Amino acid sequence: MSVQVVSAAAAAKVPEVDLKDLSPSEAEPQLGLSAAAVSAMVPPAGGGDPEAPAPAAERPPAPGPGSGPAAALSPAAGKVPQASAMKRSDPHHQHQRHRDGGEALLSPDGTVTEAPRTVKKQIQFADQKQEFNKRPTKIGRRSLSRSISQSSTDSYSSAASYTDSSDDETSPRDKQQKNSKGSSDFCVKNIKQAEFGRREIEIAEQEMPALMALRKRAQGEKPLAGAKIVGCTHITAQTAVLMETLGALGAQCRWAACNIYSTLNEVAAALAESGFPVFAWKGESEDDFWWCIDRCVNVEGWQPNMILDDGGDLTHWIYKKYPNMFKKIKGIVEESVTGVHRLYQLSKAGKLCVPAMNVNDSVTKQKFDNLYCCRESILDGLKRTTDMMFGGKQVVVCGYGEVGKGCCAALKAMGSIVYVTEIDPICALQACMDGFRLVKLNEVIRQVDIVITCTGNKNVVTREHLDRMKNSCIVCNMGHSNTEIDVASLRTPELTWERVRSQVDHVIWPDGKRIVLLAEGRLLNLSCSTVPTFVLSITATTQALALIELYNAPEGRYKQDVYLLPKKMDEYVASLHLPTFDAHLTELTDEQAKYLGLNKNGPFKPNYYRY
Ligand code: NAD
Repeated sequence: MSVQVVSAAAAAKVPEVDLKDLSPSEAEPQLGLSAAAVSAMVPPAGGGDPEAPAPAAERPPAPGPGSGPAAALSPAAGKVPQASAMKRSDPHHQHQRHRDGGEALLSPDGTVTEAPRTVKKQIQFADQKQEFNKRPTKIGRRSLSRSISQSSTDSYSSAASYTDSSDDETSPRDKQQKNSKGSSDFCVKNIKQAEFGRREIEIAEQEMPALMALRKRAQGEKPLAGAKIVGCTHITAQTAVLMETLGALGAQCRWAACNIYSTLNEVAAALAESGFPVFAWKGESEDDFWWCIDRCVNVEGWQPNMILDDGGDLTHWIYKKYPNMFKKIKGIVEESVTGVHRLYQLSKAGKLCVPAMNVNDSVTKQKFDNLYCCRESILDGLKRTTDMMFGGKQVVVCGYGEVGKGCCAALKAMGSIVYVTEIDPICALQACMDGFRLVKLNEVIRQVDIVITCTGNKNVVTREHLDRMKNSCIVCNMGHSNTEIDVASLRTPELTWERVRSQVDHVIWPDGKRIVLLAEGRLLNLSCSTVPTFVLSITATTQALALIELYNAPEGRYKQDVYLLPKKMDEYVASLHLPTFDAHLTELTDEQAKYLGLNKNGPFKPNYYRY
């Protein structure tokens, strides 16, 4: 059985992908993915091939103690490719989009705590929680749902809900529900919402061309036949497209949510209706969260052999509760910074017992999620919360990394006057060359209309800055963590807070000056707007390919370590998205390929190349 991957060049021209077998020979115009799947594109690890997947020992080191706001995290493995090392040593890698929409820190005892916020909350891990609690009382649930409604958009969820089930306070765990085929192997808010969810999924499919192409081309071959995938991710329409693709490729899936607020109930219902055992609803309690995960793995007559995780909680649960399951598990695919970090820690401690794929650090994920996603969503987030006009407004963007570059480009295009602050002379010079004025925040703080932080750092905007801002200045953060703006310093008696809209606070000084604080300093786009489906398509395709690769890899290709997706697969993911733009990729001639010392079918760049 094999999945045929067309070369980047061919894929760009031909939206339909071939299924016929081709060998990965240099002379072939197409890439052949032997070993029953995409795996043939991956040379065996450690074979000296510069494109071979590098194990953890060559991975960028995880952030060390004292290196940032999450200094509690211990450092992971050693030698690093330079470019990646820069990325992973950034303190923002120590955070995760947490289940409650805040940021999380992992302490050495395995407890995940939120990064500094006004209210501190501890999330218990599996090993600290031996049994499931009684469900919250009606009042308890009501207060929970109130807090949920305030932060439910802190996720990938579009927060779009066609059906209002907020009045239904019965816990899904207390309901007896069946889908139209009579199955009750799921737990969702309301199975009757399935039709609405199906529409959401169909809309998402339009913007997820690569998954749809993969579905079509590999359907006959079923490269995931026999795969039993247990997943723990945000349950949104985009995830549903991924799950249904995995199903079309032959996999059986059971799924729980990685975030207690991000599940789209309608989508979960649609998945349950089509036969996917989904255990998730918006507004789960902590206890529900672990219960749902447990329902996915603790099943009679069914045992997972692949894990798709986002945040590492599912992996952690299996490690703690069902370690024997790893005898049958062929691999873990991890999406998030934090989950990846945990895997590196396990690997370093010699406790990782299966191969794992780090999807987070794929080029296509980093570039598209950070740069293009933010370029699109910064305006959306600002517009939805403030209805502001951008033309002529003075904006200061703190940090000119991928996210900052995206924000600056979007605002410049709208006619804003954009200033940049940076600490790194290279990024600073880039900002200058791109036509932005590089300033210190102090120099412009009195005059700007908008302040946006994108540094991944802490206390970039301090109380002193906030005191000096002009009336009506908008303050927001696009970085991962809510540490960039010192919001806590605004919780003092002389300042009045007025919630004027969902996610919009006016903070009023005694003299009447007010600033407009968005999402309480949390990530603006994920809190207040949507993330483009196309971006998620790229990430989801990468996840699907990583699963296919790990599942089909011949014995010995991957050891018990953490791997990056091979460059060729990154290129393939990109190539699958090119037909959307009717893009015509140039193919190397034989002579050119020889001249550059490249295979005509890629990979086209070395691993250290900075895109
Ligand atoms: P990056 O490392 O490429 O860029 C951050 C930049 O900030 C760096 O150039 C750094 O030199 C600069 N910086 C650090 N401290 C600074 C300070 N005090 N003042 C000015 N500049 C400073 O990282 P990135 O990929 O741009 O990501 C930035 C943040 O955004 C991270 O926290 C990341 O997790 C997050 N992120 C958000 C989204 C989103 O959808 N909003 C998407 C991806 C990443």
